[in-house]
Amino acid sequence: MEVVKNSNALQQILSKYQKEGKTVGFVPTMGALHVGHFSLLEIAKNQTDITVCSIFVNPTQFNNSSDLTNYPREVERDLKNLDNGNCDVVFLPQVEDIYPNGAISESYNFGRVSEIMEGEHRPGHFDGVATVINRFYEIVKPNRAFFGEKDYQQYVIVDMLAKQKHPNVKVIGCPIYREDDGLAMSSRNERLNNSQRTEAPIISKALFYTKEKIKTDTIESIQAYVKNLFTNSKELELEYFEIVDENFENISNVADVTHARAFIAAFAGEVRLIDNLPLF
Ligand code: AMP
Repeated sequence: MEVVKNSNALQQILSKYQKEGKTVGFVPTMGALHVGHFSLLEIAKNQTDITVCSIFVNPTQFNNSSDLTNYPREVERDLKNLDNGNCDVVFLPQVEDIYPNGAISESYNFGRVSEIMEGEHRPGHFDGVATVINRFYEIVKPNRAFFGEKDYQQYVIVDMLAKQKHPNVKVIGCPIYREDDGLAMSSRNERLNNSQRTEAPIISKALFYTKEKIKTDTIESIQAYVKNLFTNSKELELEYFEIVDENFENISNVADVTHARAFIAAFAGEVRLIDNLPLF
């Protein structure tokens, strides 16, 4: 496994592979890696010849400066865990390398997917995501890029970005990995105290309840049940709970749509957690 710290060196290494006709799979991360991240690398290894994992805490996608400051950074541990055969090249760039003209977002318009839920509650977040991923697509020129459905809106947006500006990049959505109690794996889980960690599975419980009841109960009664779960929780505060169709429109009648997905964002103290589940 090669560890590369700047984009010129990375491009030199990758262009050698690309000239040999090898395909490149790319897994961008912000580090503090867990099984969910490693699952993306395993999928990438099965589909491409050379796998590249970036670890870069992207400042432009944080709308909250204390979230950026407190984001877990575990590069030494990550490098040890990455060296398991599924990662060929680790890219650890500095902010100046990715943003030579300063860490400023470009403006994008992806329509409704970027305006609701994460787009509404984290202003500027998706511009920051699209800016950094656009830059990574330019530097890495991957054949395939692998993203977790854990960040489902992000996955849809980076897929739209690829189709609009980098048609040679195929974006692959990968399943959500969960702890045994249902909590979606996340680097931010490391910041939960014991009591918050004990209550955090309420999020996935609410989503699985929704999946179970979506065909039989009204949306209003499901919403009331989910709100109540959070009202009764000592540690978790619900930010949003939405059930949307494939166009990210809120569903009023289940019979009218062919796909539905439920989304939750909640705070445990200062730690913001998100999760989602396809319903049918
Ligand atoms: P992050 O380091 O949080 O920016 O995540 C890097 C990539 O890993 C993104 O594509 C995430 O969607 C994905 N990811 C994060 N958590 C999970 C999970 N629990 N299961 C699957 N993919 C995940």
